[in-house]
Amino acid sequence: MDIRSRRPTTKGAAETFTGDVWIDSIVQGEEPSRVRVNLVRFTPGARTARHSHALGQTLYVSEGVGRVQSRGEEITEIRPGEVVFTPSDEWHWHGAAPDNFMAHFSITEGVGDSPKPEADWGAHVTDAEYRGTP
Ligand code: MN
Repeated sequence: MDIRSRRPTTKGAAETFTGDVWIDSIVQGEEPSRVRVNLVRFTPGARTARHSHALGQTLYVSEGVGRVQSRGEEITEIRPGEVVFTPSDEWHWHGAAPDNFMAHFSITEGVGDSPKPEADWGAHVTDAEYRGTP
């Protein structure tokens, strides 16, 4: 058994997030495991840019009220206890609701020696796109 001390919380990069987002790395699996678990906290209105995950992503909402949207689908409100699975290579974004914080655990898998990154990032979600009614 190994009880590890907390690693520093890091701020989500402006290239991939809008607004203030803070990330705690909880698990970074050592080979052959590739699991990655992050606790991600979004301030009200903060959200990811559009992106996809090479091996999909599971989100577990732990706090607050949030929003998710996959390409071509409506914005959906998410709340604590809900589990959101996004399949491999499906473009989407996730974030807080406009007037609430939101925290979720993100579970993804690294892609080992592949040149393909775990996530592929695209455009930011504009304010108008974000305001679409959930
Ligand atoms: Mn995602």
